[in-house]
Amino acid sequence: CGIFAYLNYRVPRTRKEIFETLVRGLLRLEYRGYDSAGIAVDGPRKDVKDDNNSICLIKKKGKVKALDEELDKKDSVDLDEVFDTHFGIAHTRWATHGEPSAVNSHPQRSDKDNEFVVIHNGIITNYKELKKYLSSKGYEFESETDTEVIPKLIKYVYDNRESEDVSFSTLVERVIQQLEGAFALVFKSIHFPGEAVATRRGSPLLIGVRSKYELSTEQIPIQYNSGHFKEALQEKNSRNRSDSTTALHSVGDGKAVEYYFASDASAIIEHTNKVIYLEDDDIAAVAEGKLSLHRISRLAGEDPVRAIQTLQ
Ligand code: GLU
Repeated sequence: CGIFAYLNYRVPRTRKEIFETLVRGLLRLEYRGYDSAGIAVDGPRKDVKDDNNSICLIKKKGKVKALDEELDKKDSVDLDEVFDTHFGIAHTRWATHGEPSAVNSHPQRSDKDNEFVVIHNGIITNYKELKKYLSSKGYEFESETDTEVIPKLIKYVYDNRESEDVSFSTLVERVIQQLEGAFALVFKSIHFPGEAVATRRGSPLLIGVRSKYELSTEQIPIQYNSGHFKEALQEKNSRNRSDSTTALHSVGDGKAVEYYFASDASAIIEHTNKVIYLEDDDIAAVAEGKLSLHRISRLAGEDPVRAIQTLQ
């Protein structure tokens, strides 16, 4: 089981290059073991009309190679199409709930329009209760996985949001408060094109950052929902620096940047050695090319930043 995702922001890439990056990431994670693989990328698919904002899912039982061969077929997508900004997610599955099959492999989706798609490494232990609840609300399940409750739950949270401007990371924050078990998750949505949200609890996940521009910070401050963030950072600044400048909330200043999300560093190191390891319940969000980190609340004694580390 392995997670890999790739976001290019203002770095033009062809669909073929995006496929290649995703497949290479999965191949690097192959040693973790798997029985099926899949990806989600932006549409449109040639076989679906008026579908500009859509997400295509391509899933295969078996080896990454089988998936790769499927991606090479030019009949459903235009491999030469160029994306200035794009977010693609990829997964190799080690089945825990539901047999190895295309429908059970990831990405799992919220509905037939692929409004939200998710890759998951781990096990959701309370999936039965969640599935029962969501089914009672009319959400229809298609797989036998524990994972499928996650895309359904985020769609439920989205469908019931209190206002139009709820952010993608806030939706994910609400979702993980309902989840029990272990997870590393990466979310993609047609409602948030070019945006990524990733989180983890108990399963590994790190983020690589590549930019030809100097990264403006070596630490990313955490934004706490409970409003602790400001205090925590001021404390930190007054302790460590007298010339404290305006707090940087994110990496990437709207300049060209690429982000790689993976279960382990072996899938990232060929692209960049700048990485951020997520702690349990951290939520990482990329929007407009900027990476920010969020938490529901601050843990006692917790450093309110995550360092951008340099892998040797
Ligand atoms: N529990 C999930 C499933 O069976 C994820 C397994 C994995 O980590 O690959 O689909």
